[in-house]
Amino acid sequence: MFDAILIDKTDDAQTVTTSQLAPEQLPEGDVLVEVAYSTLNYKDALAITGKGPVVRKFPMVPGIDFSGIVRDSSHEDFKPGDRVVLNGWGVGETHWGGLAGMARVKGDWLVPLPDGISMRQAMEIGTAGYTAMLCVMALDRCGVKPGDGPVAVTGAAGGVGSVATTLLAGRGFEVAAVTGRASEAEFLRGLGASEIVDREELSGKHRPLAKERFAAGIDVAGSGVLANLLSMIRYGGRVAACGLAAGMDLPATVMPFILRGVTLAGVDSVMCPMERRLEAWRLLAQELDLDKLGALSVEVPFSEVIDTAPRFLEGQVRGRIVVPVA
Ligand code: NDP
Repeated sequence: MFDAILIDKTDDAQTVTTSQLAPEQLPEGDVLVEVAYSTLNYKDALAITGKGPVVRKFPMVPGIDFSGIVRDSSHEDFKPGDRVVLNGWGVGETHWGGLAGMARVKGDWLVPLPDGISMRQAMEIGTAGYTAMLCVMALDRCGVKPGDGPVAVTGAAGGVGSVATTLLAGRGFEVAAVTGRASEAEFLRGLGASEIVDREELSGKHRPLAKERFAAGIDVAGSGVLANLLSMIRYGGRVAACGLAAGMDLPATVMPFILRGVTLAGVDSVMCPMERRLEAWRLLAQELDLDKLGALSVEVPFSEVIDTAPRFLEGQVRGRIVVPVA
């Protein structure tokens, strides 16, 4: 038997409990994983509080990512004892997720954890860090190089933005960290940002084309922030867009695309093909300063996850939340 957070719905009321489950109750899959660490992501907090339509099948175990050890497998790529990490694929939304002692999933969803990354570090990186690497790879594919000019990272003090900042700086890029929190300037410089840009500068009504300021950008905000960012990208530059922290609209014009040849690249971590995931994790193991990473996360005991979810949504928790499960 193992502990699991279980979200259920009866008529209109949602209940969330810590329940005891047996492996036989887990959904179908060809690999059984003993979960070591999961995280509390924004999506998980929405699912636990019922404040967003994340869960599409009840009952549901939340937890959109986890790291752990394979205990049983009929998948040819995995055997008992293998260390694995999982991000996305609808886990915690349509398939039981990582906030449980055990998870049974498709082996095709699992990434072997690269040597050099511990199971705890895998969740300090979490879906946010893995998405940050996907964004960096998207810029790389279009040939953006250090020396081209500053790369703007929006939401720089957040989960995706902070890892993107440190990854880009590590590759030798000049990083312009866009933040709404002036108090985080020192923290962002510590991650390698060479310039701090007040979010307000990208928040007003945007012009179709503004002064060419950035060679490229990584955007977690969407809405007017992304519209402003696009208008400030130099000729031939690229923006990797992955989030909607400011909103899901995009009040932009086509001018940056048709007059400056700017490219807008979408980044999705959930259904991202395996080849790209493997590359992202390989590069994370190679490039990420894991000591710096430890400072970006806080640990919340499994027993406090349910109570922490509403506080997380209210912005009362700093850094990413790692949950030891085993
Ligand atoms: P966090 O909550 O950790 O960080 C978001 C950051 O965005 C905040 O810290 C803040 O940064 C900034 N922000 C908040 N509100 C606004 C606003 N109104 N305008 C501009 N910036 C704002 O979230 P994550 O970093 O984990 O995720 C960022 C976004 O990426 C989310 O929208 C999330 O849903 C999305 N995401 C998408 C994925 C994908 O697969 N496409 C995967 C993972 C995340 P600061 O304080 O520096 O201003």
